[in-house]
Amino acid sequence: MRLDDEVKYLKGVGPKRAQALKRLGIVTIYDLLSYYPKGYTDQSEITPIANLEAGTIANIRGRICGIKEQMTRNRLTILTAFIDDGTDVISAIWFNKKFLKEKLRHGTNIFLHGKIEYAYGGQGRCCMKNITSFEIDPQERPVNFVPVYALVEGIKAKFLCELMTNAFAEISQIPDAFSPELKNRYGLLAKREAMYTLHFPKNKDSLAKARYTLIFEELFLLQYGRLHIKSSYVSDKKNARCLANGSLVEQVTSLLPFHLTKDQQKAWQGICRDMEAPYCMQRLLQGDVGSGKTVVALLALAKAVENGYQGAFMAPTEILAQQHYLTFVQMLKDTNITIGLLTGSLSSKEHRQIIEATANGTCQIVIGTHALIQDKVSFSNLGLVITDEQHRFGIEQRARLGEKSCCQPDTLIMTATPIPRTMTLTFYGDLSVSSIYHLPPGRKPIRTFLRTPQARDKIYQFILGQIEKGYQAYVVCPLIAESDSIKAVCVESIYEELANGIFKDVPCGLLHGKLPAEEKEQIMQDFAANKLKLLISTTVIEVGVNVPNASVMVIEGAERFGLAQLHQLRGRIGRGSAQSYCIMVSYNKNENSQQRLKLMEEVSDGFALAEADLKLRGPGQFFGSLQHGLPDLKIASLLDDLAILKRARECAAYCFEAHLGEEAIKKIIALQYKEDFAKFMRN
Ligand code: ADP
Ligand code: MG
Repeated sequence: MRLDDEVKYLKGVGPKRAQALKRLGIVTIYDLLSYYPKGYTDQSEITPIANLEAGTIANIRGRICGIKEQMTRNRLTILTAFIDDGTDVISAIWFNKKFLKEKLRHGTNIFLHGKIEYAYGGQGRCCMKNITSFEIDPQERPVNFVPVYALVEGIKAKFLCELMTNAFAEISQIPDAFSPELKNRYGLLAKREAMYTLHFPKNKDSLAKARYTLIFEELFLLQYGRLHIKSSYVSDKKNARCLANGSLVEQVTSLLPFHLTKDQQKAWQGICRDMEAPYCMQRLLQGDVGSGKTVVALLALAKAVENGYQGAFMAPTEILAQQHYLTFVQMLKDTNITIGLLTGSLSSKEHRQIIEATANGTCQIVIGTHALIQDKVSFSNLGLVITDEQHRFGIEQRARLGEKSCCQPDTLIMTATPIPRTMTLTFYGDLSVSSIYHLPPGRKPIRTFLRTPQARDKIYQFILGQIEKGYQAYVVCPLIAESDSIKAVCVESIYEELANGIFKDVPCGLLHGKLPAEEKEQIMQDFAANKLKLLISTTVIEVGVNVPNASVMVIEGAERFGLAQLHQLRGRIGRGSAQSYCIMVSYNKNENSQQRLKLMEEVSDGFALAEADLKLRGPGQFFGSLQHGLPDLKIASLLDDLAILKRARECAAYCFEAHLGEEAIKKIIALQYKEDFAKFMRN
């Protein structure tokens, strides 16, 4: 059999089980073999019965000193064995396992693995239930590590184990990415051995080595994939290259109404270094909303212009593009720099003009949306490409902008979703990173509160008070349509309730993704112009406009959002000089979600929140896996495996350049990621 054969051809797998396996993501033999345990129970530690604690899972060992069989009213057998280990006696309980009675003989030694619970009516005494394994007359040392798999109905752990055994018997060869020399250098096992050990560990040491090997391989494959994608965009064009800062950059700097913060200066220096170097800049500029990234971007654009290049600035939405355009026009009004705006909603005449000016170079800085990467758009001498909120654009889109130039432009990517270091290394391993950690001076930190729905009246009164003082407010809701199964608040019904109720004398707007684009635009503009005082909306405002006059945000159903997203939302307020307030309303009393929301109350630093969110929810949740094109990791953890990641990166670069093991690597990639691979490689 081959690794890409379907498991249904394995002995013991009928159509029903094949279906159940599919629910675990197991279709092929390779899927099966790489369905790694989510943990192991260590059966080498034996707890004395006297020390057992309710609620734990434990191993005990002792002598059977009594057996009892009972029948419940609905004819369920309860089999109880009393185990004595010299420290105390405990009862071990099996339900409906009548056949065990023959095995459990008075006086025999037994080893048991199961859950310790308070005995029913036992006045604080414990018993053992959910016995997952036991051994009569165990040898001196019982099995050390027993794998624990995530299971679904119809698939039992024992069956999975048998299946693994069958599959390993069928498969003698598993492609291996690493030559003996590399294995030696990085301390890796052969792939087959590593996989086998993970399912059938002999001891702690070999298990650790096997895990290391597979984590290394997984991170290696991701890196290799990125390199592969990147290389398909390499061109032989000359790199854009700038000289040291001259008078134009100086002029723009002096026009800024403030001094750059330390972090901004450091980022700006990094950018200058890259732009002046013979290589192309590939830099990620990250910092909280409002930390002052755009200003740094403006300086970079001025530098490109000073050196005779054009600069392009790509924003994820029309509203944002417009806003940046206005900011730049304002900031550069005393210079000779020409700026254009290219979005989908221009009149055809405006559109034609800007395309022409971009093509012949009279427009030096172009701000736009996706419209910038249309085929019609060309540049006379594009030297710098800046994309804002990078996670909405993939490598491919960036590369397409780059293709529009006679030279290879520098690229700067800006994001307000701080990316934990492991993530940057994995997915932007080829980028240098500048981080703006501290907000410009004089900002009042947003005060954040977690409240229950009972506090709504008070909250609304508070909003009214703020509106009377001249400020504006947001109410953010998670969903559009009402759904029976979840008690989430729907934006439309909240709007009805508020606009016709307590806020009936206040101009309110309703904003959600299903509205036509022009209508959305209009509402956003009315809010920005202070014509609307209260905006009731879904998360479409997440990367929305800058309305410094908005001082309150209420987030309904806050538990439904990830921390990163809550933080992004919160970043819409606190942009002016007034004290701002973010009030999260949550129904959910779940401890985990309360813990997350409490973090929001306590932590205002986006970087710290991002790390915390990654820890609590995993990387897929953090970004939304689709958005990021991040495949599910089978074994590696972006949080814990930073050290391995670094080695895997180095190794991937080496193999990629030397074309080492190319064939085997591609085989593994195809086996492991199947059609998904194309997706994640392209992001
Ligand atoms: P970001 O792009 O990171 O969201 P912006 O560059 O738009 O942040 O800056 C947010 C606000 O802070 C703007 O109004 C900007 O003028 C102001 N700002 C930026 N840098 C400074 C600074 N060094 N000192 C004072 N204000 C600043
Ligand atoms: Mg910004």
